[in-house]
Amino acid sequence: MNPYVKAKNTPLIEINAPLFDEFKVKVFIKCDFLNHPQVQGNKFHKLKLNAEQAIIQNKTQLLTFGGAFSNHIAATASLAKSLGMSSYGVIRGEELEHQPNKWSHTLKTAKENGMAFIFISRKQYKERANRQYLQDLQVQFPDAFIIPEGGSNALAIKGFAMLCCELNQQCPNWTHLFTSVGTGGTLAGLSSYAYQCLEGAAMDIDKEVIGVCALKQGSYLIPQIEQWQNAAHDHKAIKMARWKLLTQYHCGGYAKTNRELLTFKADFEQAFQIPLDPVYTSKTFLAFYKELTSGNIVKGSQVILYHSGGLQGNPD
Ligand SMILES: *Cc1c(COP(=O)(O)O)cnc(C)c1O
Repeated sequence: MNPYVKAKNTPLIEINAPLFDEFKVKVFIKCDFLNHPQVQGNKFHKLKLNAEQAIIQNKTQLLTFGGAFSNHIAATASLAKSLGMSSYGVIRGEELEHQPNKWSHTLKTAKENGMAFIFISRKQYKERANRQYLQDLQVQFPDAFIIPEGGSNALAIKGFAMLCCELNQQCPNWTHLFTSVGTGGTLAGLSSYAYQCLEGAAMDIDKEVIGVCALKQGSYLIPQIEQWQNAAHDHKAIKMARWKLLTQYHCGGYAKTNRELLTFKADFEQAFQIPLDPVYTSKTFLAFYKELTSGNIVKGSQVILYHSGGLQGNPD
């Protein structure tokens, strides 16, 4: 375990409903929103090894990229603060620079945790993964450890190995794991390490990781997800889960909602007393219900819904 960055193990709880009995499936929620108060859910797993690497390299700043609603921006700011480092957020949308009254809850929280912002235009933001651009940025910020948008890089993907081990100890026989997709880093990590810490008969269970895209036209993410999966295993032949990306459940696009989604969110929270966020987990859990009622999940399945956090973005 990383000596600098710690999170709690989180419960896996079974939820019950007549619908699940009708389709003869068991449904569990992995409550990872409880792992860390500020660096919540998947963001913790993605940042853990990055922060460790920054410390090893004697960097004193974390610098990363995101939009105004990026949970990763808020997570990076509070992680940097807790490690005594400073942080920079390169934020999409230059118009925000002089309009702090229009800042999202997320940006305000990051700022309170000491993050300095660099606002850039949408056009400039497209350069965020460009080699030359990143080299220039590193020259400008020599003490910064630069983390890509959404925190997704090879170190982030590796960070999911421990979570998968924990999940497999809680429920070795799971068959389906639903997870939310922004960049696809979490999907890459969970699919790569799906058989972590299993042995014997449990290795033969057919496991599928199902990513639900929170943004429109998400299929462009697939080649990058495959690259991360390959890097995760360092070319060793380790058994991976089957996986797929569902792109039809974005409910209007990134950070957009519609009436159906908001109704589902309220009903689910009421029924199970588990809070959801509108950007990611609500869409993913709704997608599960739709896949179930469409007959896409065979009877006897053991389904895990991964609650990846994101609650910091909810307005108070
Ligand atoms: C950031 C985030 C995601 C998306 O994760 P990716 O690894 O970028 O796909 C999913 N759920 C929540 C709650 C998030 O904050």
